[in-house]
Amino acid sequence: MAYKNFTLETDADGIALVTWDMPDRSMNVFTIDVMDDLEQIIADVTADEAIKGVVVTSGKEGFSGGADLTMLDGLLRSYHAERKSGDVEAAAKALFDGSRRLSLLYRRLETCGKPWVAAINGTCMGGATELALACHARVASDSDKLKIGLPEVKVGLFPGAGGTQRVMRMCEAQAGLQFLLQGRQLGGKQAKGMKLIDDVVPGDALVATAKSLITAGLDPVQPWDKKGFKPPAGRIYSPQGFQFWPAANAIYRRETFDNYPGARAIMQSVYEGLQLPMDLALQVESRYFAHVLQSPEAAAMIRSLFVSMQELNKGARRPEAEPANTIAKVGILGAGFMGAGVAFVTAKAGIDVVLLDRDMAAAEKGKAHSDELISKQVKRGRATPEAREALLARIQPTDDYADLKDCDLVIEAVFEDREVKKGVTEAAEAQMKSGAIFASNTSTLPITSLAQASKRPKDFIGIHFFSPVDKMMLVEVILGKKTGDSALAMALDYIRAIKKTPIVVNDARGFYTSRVVMTYIREGLLMLGDGVPAAMVENVGRMAGMPVGPLTLADEVALDLAWKIVSATRKDMGDKYVAGPLDHILEEMVVKRERFGRKNAKGFFDYPEGGKKHLWPALTDVTGAPKAADSFDVEELKQRLLVMQALETARIFEEKVLTDVREADVGSILGFGFAPFTGGTLSYIDGMGTQTFLDLCKAFTKKYGPRFKPNKLLREMAQNGETFYGRFGKGAGQARSDKAA
Ligand code: NAD
Repeated sequence: MAYKNFTLETDADGIALVTWDMPDRSMNVFTIDVMDDLEQIIADVTADEAIKGVVVTSGKEGFSGGADLTMLDGLLRSYHAERKSGDVEAAAKALFDGSRRLSLLYRRLETCGKPWVAAINGTCMGGATELALACHARVASDSDKLKIGLPEVKVGLFPGAGGTQRVMRMCEAQAGLQFLLQGRQLGGKQAKGMKLIDDVVPGDALVATAKSLITAGLDPVQPWDKKGFKPPAGRIYSPQGFQFWPAANAIYRRETFDNYPGARAIMQSVYEGLQLPMDLALQVESRYFAHVLQSPEAAAMIRSLFVSMQELNKGARRPEAEPANTIAKVGILGAGFMGAGVAFVTAKAGIDVVLLDRDMAAAEKGKAHSDELISKQVKRGRATPEAREALLARIQPTDDYADLKDCDLVIEAVFEDREVKKGVTEAAEAQMKSGAIFASNTSTLPITSLAQASKRPKDFIGIHFFSPVDKMMLVEVILGKKTGDSALAMALDYIRAIKKTPIVVNDARGFYTSRVVMTYIREGLLMLGDGVPAAMVENVGRMAGMPVGPLTLADEVALDLAWKIVSATRKDMGDKYVAGPLDHILEEMVVKRERFGRKNAKGFFDYPEGGKKHLWPALTDVTGAPKAADSFDVEELKQRLLVMQALETARIFEEKVLTDVREADVGSILGFGFAPFTGGTLSYIDGMGTQTFLDLCKAFTKKYGPRFKPNKLLREMAQNGETFYGRFGKGAGQARSDKAA
């Protein structure tokens, strides 16, 4: 039989080797075609008496990236179309049947009477991991690139093709549930430790080992299909279960605040499924899956965290006419906190780095950071000693600007001081080859003003990294008034090479992310001024879906910095400035009590050495005694925090600092962790409807003041019944020549 995406070869022992190798794709993914093939293959090997067992592997470098989510998107679209046409029941049935096709296929595979072994040669995600789990054994290659995971929960879904049921019938309860809920990726050895993988072997022995399991008589009946099966997770109604489930539910609430229908469905599927035989358990899982698929949270998360993110990663904002850049060498000026991090991610991507500081000792210190990070990875088995040597060999520490002469791109990360930045810009440009691009990693200074120090402002751009550089996935690119297309193309090609996600914004104070994040902190501090207990301010921040509370963030950013901003605004506005509780709190904290935040271990929290941080007990001396917690409406407090950030984003959009709805959403989630289940700041507004959002802003303006006053764009959109994606979505996005007002 010929298949579109697989080959099948049967050897002399009657073992069929099924190799997944999709034409015209660099990675295997699940599509309708792939499911058709798989269905046929299962039928063919079951019917063919000469075939004794099957090994399934991949012809690509990785095993498979999982489902192509656009397929689910298609399923949903036809569901909504059919619903609209009136036949709600038929629509629901089609969605249920369509969304459980893979689950039924896997069940057929594991009950076909012949043993199947997955030979996992490289990265294996989502539906592909579920395929492997349905096989009767799994062997993985020992490559340090191999990762196994069920990341569905990160896009608002959950593993709905048997994943929740099989993981919990293979693993110990806590490890299994965490693996499902966190969407974490495991290396081969970790997966083996959790009993998800039977063996880890060298890549060239993979298929032979898989085949040997079959010739040795691998049982074609899964343990859970045998009488008397006891899951290692324990039964629900058992002393073990009674101990585990109440705690598990509490932890689930603490970690998610019940904001994610996908995560909730994992808890439900596991709890209910573990009480049922496999076929029924799978049916329960499928029902939850069809339900979650229709949730607004899943739709918003798939759009922002899968579709938009992929488009941005592939260069949606790259000027098409610009030729592709080969980036062989990057210069980094300033080997401090940020410069050292940028050097690491650049060298890790295989690019040579010239790391320059004022003297050799400082440059060497910056390089030592890379040594520290990569050595840690080697220790944990995540990188080889050879990879460490190669990475470090790529970083050349220096104090000599002449070493920048063949750099394609130079990124400046020196002190946040105009004069210092001017000096290094001039010194670097004097050495840089023609066509090379100069970028600043400034976090606050407008790029257009910094570019005044440049002889070639067309080649000057902002590349704003977030800390810690090796962990944060977002990079904010800032266009100065004179920045040219070749600089933008270079910045985007570089960010793609280091495998991060770019957003491109026009120049303005605070750009996008810093400006919005400051409003979150401000709103938290204003709540303190309103008498909300400090612990409640922190809790409502997390309940709203933010990664940390506003007071924690204020301490991280530094209170003296916030005080500096408030003082500068006061000076700028002169008589018009109306001092509020924010001024009082910051002045008391910073000026009178020298509580600067985490950096001097004294802020809203105390940071005892070697101990756990805790709220500063004397905070009420500054804020006054708080009111009773139950005199506040928790929902309203949560909304205040999200509405403020979304409103600021709408203003930034109107000012054309942001010009693409996808960038607003993706940037807000990756940059400052804006409640991911909403899909991002603008999806949050679209999700509730512009009019509802406008009404909230108006109500909050009345109650809390003019900072909630809706901008003109919002009022206009509400009047026309428009949404951000409807008005500015794909195709409707402005051209990048649409510079800031
Ligand atoms: P840092 O003080 O840790 O490092 C600055 C480095 O620049 C030091 O190693 C210093 O020796 C070097 N330097 C100073 N003057 C120099 C000169 N004339 N020539 C060569 N080297 C010189 O500071 P940082 O936190 O890494 O910040 C660097 C830049 O990145 C700033 O513009 C900052 O605003 C920006 N930034 C910082 C963060 C953050 O979280 N720290 C985040 C985004 C952007």
